[in-house]
Amino acid sequence: MRVIRQNEISVLKFGGTSVKTPARMKNVAEIVAKCASGSKVIVVVSAMGHHTDELVNLASECSNNPIQREMDVLLATGEQQSIALLSIILNDLGVKTRSFTGAQLGIITESNFGNAEILQINRKRIETALEEYQVIVVAGFQGVTTDGDITTLGRGGSDTSAVALAAAIGAQTCDIYTDVDGIFTADPNKVPGATLHEQIGYAECLELALNGAQVIHPRAVRLAQNNGLAIRVRNTFNPENLGTLINGYQSQTEIAGITTSSGFGTVDLTLETPVCDWQNTVSELCLSGQSYTGGNLKTQSNDLPALSLAFAGVNENTLSELATSIARALPIRNLNWSEVLHRITIIFSSETHAVSPYMKERMRSILNDANIEIKFIQTTKTSLSCLVASQNAERALNLLHQGLHDFAVETPRQQVSIA
Ligand code: ASP
Ligand code: MG
Repeated sequence: MRVIRQNEISVLKFGGTSVKTPARMKNVAEIVAKCASGSKVIVVVSAMGHHTDELVNLASECSNNPIQREMDVLLATGEQQSIALLSIILNDLGVKTRSFTGAQLGIITESNFGNAEILQINRKRIETALEEYQVIVVAGFQGVTTDGDITTLGRGGSDTSAVALAAAIGAQTCDIYTDVDGIFTADPNKVPGATLHEQIGYAECLELALNGAQVIHPRAVRLAQNNGLAIRVRNTFNPENLGTLINGYQSQTEIAGITTSSGFGTVDLTLETPVCDWQNTVSELCLSGQSYTGGNLKTQSNDLPALSLAFAGVNENTLSELATSIARALPIRNLNWSEVLHRITIIFSSETHAVSPYMKERMRSILNDANIEIKFIQTTKTSLSCLVASQNAERALNLLHQGLHDFAVETPRQQVSIA
């Protein structure tokens, strides 16, 4: 029996848009077949197009509250369809291939249905499969508990499956194929001037992913970082391009990127009397999926304290409900809430660059000049974000990208970084 060396195994993952139709599957199969001429290949695939969303909708037509175990049984079928079809095409191309569900390959997870973490992967089973087959096609997003229950890893979880498999077999890199050339300084579909990162550090990439950049799942980035594995994000429709390499890279530029995400809102209120633990009170009022993201306390000219609170995970209805429960829980004189807002987040290259007050001023003046009202500003060690009306989000994103990004690249660091 020939022992396969780790560097002879490639791990490739293709997302939903890459396998949306049979024609696109065939395109994917060509990429895989080419790779398979030089190494053994593990291919991880997502469900076709928006199939997972369609399955979620189907379930909601059957029940208002479908039980999570059965949701996982249902959702896992999307990826199962993809692996079978891709394997059929690869076999037609003469590539010795077999498909595997998460359970068949021994991807063991905890039993937290809908958002399970991978606990263990049966490396021996992968190696045995790769001895016999040139390519194994694995269903992303799914695993199995030790009791044999099918689980899913949370939406977007196929990236995590791919990185976990790459880590399990000790691969150096995992190639994640998507529908853009890699990781940009902003979503290239919204910002024409966005530039591609050839390399990006794990930390910056994680911040981008956590703040709405959809190109890669944050859990996959963390897992890669913990295992010292590089991820290459590249374009299925432009496979010659080498895309973006995510690794321990330390960038010299000030800004890693600017993202937008939806579902934010603010509640502004005046208190009758000071309240000490208002942060805890408002946090506890958040329902599942909602979160309190920050607040400012000011004393007004009438000596009454005024609070401005920001929330994530809200829509028009849930924000007004939340505002009502805040009004009940705190001694308020008056209260109002915003429309639903978008958050724009500027992510700085981590560690070496601190968020500067000058940047905050620049952000304010760029948006003021464009008559875009800022509802809330927040800073962390490596990011600066503001909430704006949803209809202004794309314009604000473009203006900030143009104004701040160009500015940051051109300006010597010592002038803008104030520790
Ligand atoms: N098909 C799953 C989803 O749509 C997993 C994935 O695509 O990564 O969330
Ligand atoms: Mg995805």
